Amino acid sequence: MKIIDFHTHIFPDNLAGKALRSIESTGGIKPKFDGTLKGLINSMDNAGVSISVVLSIATKPKQFNSIFNWARSIYSERIIPFPSVHPDDEEVHQHILQIKSEGFKGLKMHPYFQGFYIDEERMFPIYETIAKAGLILVIHAGYDFAYERIEKAGPWRILRIMKEFPELHLVAAHLGGWQQWDIVEKLLIGKNLFIDTSFSQDFLEESQFMRMILRHHGMVLFGTDTPWTEQKDAVQKLKKIAIPEDIKSQIFYQNAAKLLNTGSTLDS
Ligand SMILES: [Zn+2]
Repeated sequence: MKIIDFHTHIFPDNLAGKALRSIESTGGIKPKFDGTLKGLINSMDNAGVSISVVLSIATKPKQFNSIFNWARSIYSERIIPFPSVHPDDEEVHQHILQIKSEGFKGLKMHPYFQGFYIDEERMFPIYETIAKAGLILVIHAGYDFAYERIEKAGPWRILRIMKEFPELHLVAAHLGGWQQWDIVEKLLIGKNLFIDTSFSQDFLEESQFMRMILRHHGMVLFGTDTPWTEQKDAVQKLKKIAIPEDIKSQIFYQNAAKLLNTGSTLDS
């Protein structure tokens, strides 16, 4: 079974150690590899993952260029990087267009690391530019384990974005909203929104996890959040779930391939 991991994080070699240590100390969570490109490829080979989407987060506006340039340098058949823009970036619109014209598939934004509520009015022009460019927006959804529980990216807010921008290719991470899954199930499941499986299966009753991914199966993307989880474990846990094999392979591969619009080259 081919596998795309739609939610991974790595850092430039010279920053990886420091970045992992700082996230480890705020989040109280241990990385499963060294956070480098080489470490990720190793992990993918181990887990049977063909392709990883690498999500970056610009925690300051000025980080755009360094993330963008590094993302260009790691792009390959197996590594699909999503750069990032910061909402306070004065050139945010140009930068989104730059991401598009370089050939990237999408970008990542994070309300907790970047200090915004996802449905704030000031975000709307940004979403509009992303939607018009045809880029995929991966957004952290739900609470974040490293932050106080102030609701910045909950299901009602996601619904508001979906209503304003029905054409936006939106991926809500962590099964639509970390630790807000009861509301996600009522509000978002079955609607026109991609969700990834990262950091969800271990936190949910198996029955609820199965119910949610079955009802939403055409738009569920396998994701791990590695190095914060072990890619191989996440693959094996999802493989064990008692759902039809064709739905499993949609979640592991086809939904992501379709979204990334790379189906033709990958299937050859
Ligand atoms: Zn993540």
